[in-house]
Amino acid sequence: MDDQQRRTIPLTQLTEDERMFQATVRRFAAEQILPLVRGMDEAQQMDAGLVRQLFELGLMGIAVPEEYGGAGGNFFEAILAIEEISAVDPAVGVLVDVQNTLCVNALVQWATEEQKQRWMPQLAADTVGAYALSEAASGSDAFALQTRAVRRGDDYVLNGQKLWITNAKEARLFVVFATVDPSAGYKGITAFVVEKEAAGFSLGKKEDKLGIRASSTCELVFRDCVVPASQVLGEVGKGYKIAIETLNEGRIGIGAQMLGLAAGAWGHAARWAKERRQFGKALVEFQAMQFQLAEMATEIEAARLLVYNAARLKDTGGDFLKEAAMCKYFASQVAERVASLSVEVFGGAGFVKDYPVEKLYRDAKICTIYEGTSFMQLATIAKLVL
Ligand SMILES: Cc1cc2nc3c(=O)[nH]c(=O)nc-3n(C[C@H](O)[C@H](O)[C@H](O)COP(=O)(O)OP(=O)(O)OC[C@H]3O[C@@H](n4cnc5c(N)ncnc54)[C@H](O)[C@@H]3O)c2cc1C
Repeated sequence: MDDQQRRTIPLTQLTEDERMFQATVRRFAAEQILPLVRGMDEAQQMDAGLVRQLFELGLMGIAVPEEYGGAGGNFFEAILAIEEISAVDPAVGVLVDVQNTLCVNALVQWATEEQKQRWMPQLAADTVGAYALSEAASGSDAFALQTRAVRRGDDYVLNGQKLWITNAKEARLFVVFATVDPSAGYKGITAFVVEKEAAGFSLGKKEDKLGIRASSTCELVFRDCVVPASQVLGEVGKGYKIAIETLNEGRIGIGAQMLGLAAGAWGHAARWAKERRQFGKALVEFQAMQFQLAEMATEIEAARLLVYNAARLKDTGGDFLKEAAMCKYFASQVAERVASLSVEVFGGAGFVKDYPVEKLYRDAKICTIYEGTSFMQLATIAKLVL
C-alpha cells in the first residue's frame, strides 16, 4: 500500500479478509458462546468444549506463524476476535486475549527457534498459556517481584508465589517472571517458560471474583521448582524488557475486550428500549432515551477508533505506546459507563441475572485494574505528552 492509498483508507474500514474473519467470529460467539454464558458465570468455570472449539477455529493461535501450525494472522485480527467475543462474554474474551497478545506474542518475539518449534504448535493446537508477573506485594510496581530463580547446573530452581494469574486453571504453559539477582533490581528479572508438569509447581487458591467469573484467576506456587535453563525466554536479566513490551501490546487487547463489552451492552440496551413500553410508548420514543443511546454510541465509536488505531500502528511497526495506554484507559471508562447506563435502560430487569447487562456491568470493573490500572495508564500518558 503506498502513502496515497494509506491516507484515503478510513481506520474502521475493514479489508475483505478482515470482514470475513469478523463475521466468522461473530457467528461463533452468537451460536456457540452465548448459550453457555450464564452457566459458566454461575459455575465460575470455563467450558472445556468451548476452549476446544476456540482452538479448532484457530482463535487461540491467531498470531502463531503458519509454519508452526498457527493462523499466521496479524495483531489487528486478534483485536477483532477479542472485540467480537467480548461483546458476548468478556470472560472468554480475556482467555483469547491472554493467549494471543501475551503468551503467543512473547514467544513469537523472544523464543529461540528451538523453543518455537517445541511450544508454538502446542499453543496453536490445544495448549492454553498464562502470563505470570504479579505477586502479592508487586502489582503496579511489578518489577519489585520477589520470586527467585537460582541457577543449579543446567537448571534454574524457582521459589515464590504469583497472584492473580488469568487462565491458570486451563493453562499448561506459563510465562513466568522471576529474579536471578534481587540486588540488581529490574535488571535481575528473567522470563521462563514453565510447564504445568514441572516438579515443584502447583496451583494455589482460585479467586472468587466480582466479574469475568468464568475466567480462572489463581495463585501459582513455586517450591524448588526445577526449570531447565533452556527454558529461559530471551536473555537472563532481560525479562523486564519482555514484560514491558508484551504488556504494551496486551493493553490494546484489553482495550478491545472493553470495546466489545461496551458494544455488547449497547446492543442489549437499544433492543430493550425498542421493545419495552411505558406511558403507551416504546422507551426509545422518549428523547431522553434516544440521547443516552446516541451518546453511548458516540463513545463506543471513539473507543473503537483508539483501539483500531493502536492495533494498526503495532502492525505497521509504528510507535504505539501512548496510543495503547490511551485506548486501554478510554475503552475502560466507556465500558464502565455504557454497562452502567445499560443496566438503567433495563430498569429493574437490568438488576437481575435473567438479563445479560447485569453480568456485563460486573465484568466491566476489571478493566480499570488489570494489565496496568487506570492510574498507571495515566502515568504513562502523562510521561509521553508532557
Ligand atoms: C481478575 C484479575 C486477573 C489478573 N490477571 C493477571 C495475569 O494474568 N497476570 C498477571 O501478572 N497479573 C494479573 N493480574 C494482576 C493485575 O495486573 C494487578 O492487580 C494490577 O496490576 C494492580 O496491581 P495490585 O492489584 O497490586 O494493585 P496496586 O498496585 O496495589 O494498586 C492499588 C491502587 O493504587 C493505585 N496506585 C498504585 N501505584 C500508584 C501510583 N504510583 N500513583 C497513583 N496510584 C497508584 C492503583 O492505580 C490502584 O488504584 C490480574 C488481576 C485481576 C484482578
